Amino acid sequence: MLPVALPRIVHAAVSLFYPPTCAVCSASVEDLEYLCPDCRARAPRVVAPFCAKCSEPFPAAITQTFSCANCENRKLHFDCAVAAYRSRGLVRKVLHQFKYGKQRHLRLPVAGWLRESLSDPRLRGRHFDVVVPVPLHPARERERGFNQAALIAELLAASTTVPVRPVLERIRYTTTQTAYDRAERMENLHGAFRLRKNRDVRGLHVLLIDDVLTTGSTLSECARVLRAAGAISVHAATAARA
Ligand SMILES: [Zn+2]
Ligand SMILES: [Zn+2]
Repeated sequence: MLPVALPRIVHAAVSLFYPPTCAVCSASVEDLEYLCPDCRARAPRVVAPFCAKCSEPFPAAITQTFSCANCENRKLHFDCAVAAYRSRGLVRKVLHQFKYGKQRHLRLPVAGWLRESLSDPRLRGRHFDVVVPVPLHPARERERGFNQAALIAELLAASTTVPVRPVLERIRYTTTQTAYDRAERMENLHGAFRLRKNRDVRGLHVLLIDDVLTTGSTLSECARVLRAAGAISVHAATAARA
């Protein structure tokens, strides 16, 4: 795959030998795009009804009083966490290639999915002072070569006037979360993040960014730290929801 950081003219020259193809189906695509229109259209969306707080989809035909199994019996410290897409099928595959396959160019479609979350009524028209990516532990970032949340946060912020500020740091290298249930995830993450030295979020409205929302534990722990440091509000947006 071609790094998009190449100057366009070099990119165009290389493209003569390696015509750009869709990252999913290998159909040919326009220059500097990585998904064909068919694959874009196949990305599964989060459809209503879903939880207003954590966006967990509910089974169809529920009553107004349905309580969210993901939110009940715990405190989530963000105002809400929003995603427009499900981390299923094609979306899951692209996210996986981006994050674990080190295919940095896939930040473009992933940031596109993230951007769509801003059209959600819970975020649309809302004022944010700062965009904050969920940090990786430095050892993991070195191993991966980048922080996927920071890459997509930068692309998102580039289309707005809100600055990206990596004000958080991850101070504990936590084991992978996937084997844990909700309560264990929360416990495992406690104390994993802190505000960086000489950073100030007092009085700020924060938009917190990550690639995927699973149970919301990571976003909640980051939001807890930001609020404790004086942030007025913390809304979260992700490219996809598990
Ligand atoms: Zn395709
Ligand atoms: Zn919920």
